[in-house]
Amino acid sequence: MTDFTMATDADGVATITWDVAAKSMNVMSTAGFALLSDLVDQALADPGVKGIIITSAKKDFAGGMDLNVIAQMRAGGAQAIFDGVMTMHKVLRKIELAGMDPKTKKGAKPIVAALPGTALGIGLELPLSCHRIIAADNAKAKIGLPEIMVGIFPGAGGTTRLARKMGAMMAAPFLLEGKLSDPKAAKAAGLIDEVVAPEALLARAKEWVLGAKDADLVKPWDDKGYKMPGGAPYHPAGFMTFVGANAMVHGKTMGVYPAAKALLAAVYEGALVPFDTALRIEARHFTSVLMNPSSAAMIRSLFINKEALEKGANRPEAPDQSVKKVGVIGAGMMGAGIAYVSAMAGIDVVLIDAAQEAADRGKSYSEGLLDKALQRKKTTPEKKAEVLARITATTDYAALAGCDLIVEAVFEDVKVKAEVTAKVEAATGADCIFATNTSTLPITALAKASARAENFIGIHFFSPVDKMMLVEIIKGKATGPRAVAKALDYVRQIRKTPIVVNDARFFYANRCIIPYINEGIRMVAEGVEPALVENAAKLVGMPLGPLQLVDETSIDLGVKIAKATRAAMGDTYPDGAVDEVLFWMADAGRLGKKSNSGFYAYDATGKREGLWDGLAAKYPVAEAQPELTLVQHRLLMAQVLEAVRALEEGVLTDIREGDVGAILGWGFAPWSGGPFSWLDIIGALRAVEICDSLTATFGDRFATPALLREMAAKGETFYGRFGGAAKAA
Ligand code: NAD
Repeated sequence: MTDFTMATDADGVATITWDVAAKSMNVMSTAGFALLSDLVDQALADPGVKGIIITSAKKDFAGGMDLNVIAQMRAGGAQAIFDGVMTMHKVLRKIELAGMDPKTKKGAKPIVAALPGTALGIGLELPLSCHRIIAADNAKAKIGLPEIMVGIFPGAGGTTRLARKMGAMMAAPFLLEGKLSDPKAAKAAGLIDEVVAPEALLARAKEWVLGAKDADLVKPWDDKGYKMPGGAPYHPAGFMTFVGANAMVHGKTMGVYPAAKALLAAVYEGALVPFDTALRIEARHFTSVLMNPSSAAMIRSLFINKEALEKGANRPEAPDQSVKKVGVIGAGMMGAGIAYVSAMAGIDVVLIDAAQEAADRGKSYSEGLLDKALQRKKTTPEKKAEVLARITATTDYAALAGCDLIVEAVFEDVKVKAEVTAKVEAATGADCIFATNTSTLPITALAKASARAENFIGIHFFSPVDKMMLVEIIKGKATGPRAVAKALDYVRQIRKTPIVVNDARFFYANRCIIPYINEGIRMVAEGVEPALVENAAKLVGMPLGPLQLVDETSIDLGVKIAKATRAAMGDTYPDGAVDEVLFWMADAGRLGKKSNSGFYAYDATGKREGLWDGLAAKYPVAEAQPELTLVQHRLLMAQVLEAVRALEEGVLTDIREGDVGAILGWGFAPWSGGPFSWLDIIGALRAVEICDSLTATFGDRFATPALLREMAAKGETFYGRFGGAAKAA
C-alpha cells in the first residue's frame, strides 16, 4: 500500500504525497485512509517536523471516495457505516487539531493542502480539515462536493465544515446542488484560501507552513465565541435562511430525495451543537442515507453504470472509429444542434440542407449558442471562430467527400429520407457509416433505401441536442458491428451517454414516454382533476407532469404520432380515449407551448400561468377523485411496464441501459435509479400486486409481464437476475 508517501526536508516540512498506483486519478480507499492516518501520527509525533503539506503526485488532487468503500460499508449494515464514518471523522479531526493544546489553543503543527488540480468529494473534505487550502491556478480543475448528484451528501465532515466556514446560505449551492468551481471561483466563494501559479504551489505551501502562527491554526469553530456566518437557526437572520432553505429544497425535490432532506437536517441540527457533536449528527444522517435503497440505486445508475456505458461497455470489438468529418443532412432544429455538438468536439462538419439559406440558418444556430457562451465568459472569441470554421454550410452533396459518418436529420418522411440516403451514398465512400436521427420510423425499413445496410444505423438525439445527455443508438436487422462501434465512438467524442437498443416501434425512450403522456391525458378524459395528475407525477419525482410535457413537445406532434401509430396497429390500437382529447385540443388550435395555449394557459410572453380552466367545460372534474398513490401507480407503471416489455422483447439487452437511458432521456424519477431499479426497490411481488389491481380496474395495458410474474414467484430482483454488469439477454 503506497497510496500516500511521506518525505521530510531539511527545514522540517513533511510532505505527504497522494499517488494511488495504476490509477490516473486518486481515490480514497479504507487502507489509504489508514495509511494517511499513520503518516500524520508520525509527523505530529516527530519533533523534527514543523509542519505538513498534503499534496498529490498526479495532475489532480483526488476524484473522491472509492465507491467500493461505500459498497463495503453498506454491506456491513448501519453500525458498520456509522463506525466507518466516525473513524474518518477521527482522522480528519486529528489533522484539524494537529496536536493543539485544547486550553491554550497553542502548539498545533500547521497542515496545508496543496491542490494541483481537481479536488472532489473526500478530495475536498480532507483539505477542508487542513489549516489552509492552496490551489494551483488551473482552469481545468474542478473543486467541490458533488455527492448530492448521486443521491448521497458529503459525509466526511464536508457538510459540517462547509456550513460552519461559509454559513448555511453561502454553502447551499456547494452542498445542495453539488456546484463545482475552478480554483479562482472557489477562492472567490471562500471555498479555498489561495490560488498560486502551478509551479509555485509547493514552494508557497512550504512558505505558509513555516510562517504560520498559532492563531492561524485554530479553526473558527474551535475558537471561543464562534458564531455561524449568516446566523445559526435561532438567530433572526439564520432563522430566515433555514426556513427559506427548507422550503426551497422541498419545492425543488418534492421530498423524494432522502439525501437532500438528510443534508439539511445535518446542517440545521449540527448548527445547534458543538462541532464534535455536529460531526456525530452528520454521521448518523449519512448512515441513514446510505441505508436508503434510493442512494444505492442512484450511485449505481448515475455514476457507476453511466460511466461504464460511456466507456463502451456494450461496444463491439472493432478498431478505433473516432469520427473526423461528419456530414449532417437537414439543418433544422435537430441538424443544427448535431452540427454544433460535433464542431464543439473538434469534428469537421458539413451541414447540408435543400436551400443554402436553410443551411446557413442551421449554422447560425451554433453562432447564437457561442455568442451566449461568450457573454457568460464560457468561451473566447478565438474558440468561437475555431468552432464556426469547422462547420461548412452548403447544399452541395459533393462536399460530403471524405466524411466517415453521416447523420441524417431531414423531415420525418420515408420518401424524403430514402432520396437523401441514395444521394449521400453516391457522394461518400463505401466505409462511411450512415445514421438516421429518426424518432419514429423503423431503422430496418429505412435501411432498405441503402445499398450498404450493414453501415446503416439509428443515432437518435433528444431535443435540445446541446443540453440532452442521452443518445439512443438503434441497430437495424442488418446493422453491422463497425457501425455500432462508430456510433459509440462518436457519442464518446461529443461527450454524451449512449445506450444501444434493437429496432422496434419508438425504440426505447419514446416507447416509454408516450404511454406516460397518454395515461395523463386519459385521466383528464375520465374526470381526474388535472392538477392532481400533474402534482402526482411531480411528487413521485418526475420533472414534468404528463400534461406539461405534451405542451412542451407540442400537441400536434402528439396527433401526428397517434395517427401514424393507429395506421400501423389497426384494430389493436389502444389509445382512442386519449386521441379524443388530443384531437379536440389540436382542432381548437391549442398546440401547446409553441402556440401559447395547451393543457396550460400562457401569457403573451409565453410564460406558463397554470392549468387551462377551459378544460373542465369539456371534461368535467368528477366528484370522487382517486387516491394520490393510485394516480402515481398509473403514471409510473405506464412507463415501467414498457421498459420491462422492451427487455422481454429484446429491444433492450442490458438493464443498465434501461435505467440510465430512462433518467437521462426523459427524466424518469432519478431518485429511483430508473425503472428497473424502482421495481427492485418495491420488489417484484409488490409490482405484480399493483399491476394486477390496475389491470382489473383499467384494462390490459397494465397486464403484468410474464417476466415480472416469474421473478415474483422466484423472489428475484432485476439486478440480482440480470447482474449489475451482465447483459440481460
Ligand atoms: P425540422 O423540420 O426542424 O428540420 C428538418 C430540416 O431538413 C429542414 O431544415 C429541411 O429544410 C431539411 N430538409 C428536408 N428535406 C431535405 C432534403 N431532401 N435535403 C436536405 N435537407 C432537407 O425537423 P427536426 O425537428 O430537426 O427533425 C429532423 C429529424 O429528427 C426528424 O426525422 C425527426 O423525427 C427527428 N427528431 C426530432 C426530434 C425533435 O424533438 N424535433 C427529436 C429526435 C429526432
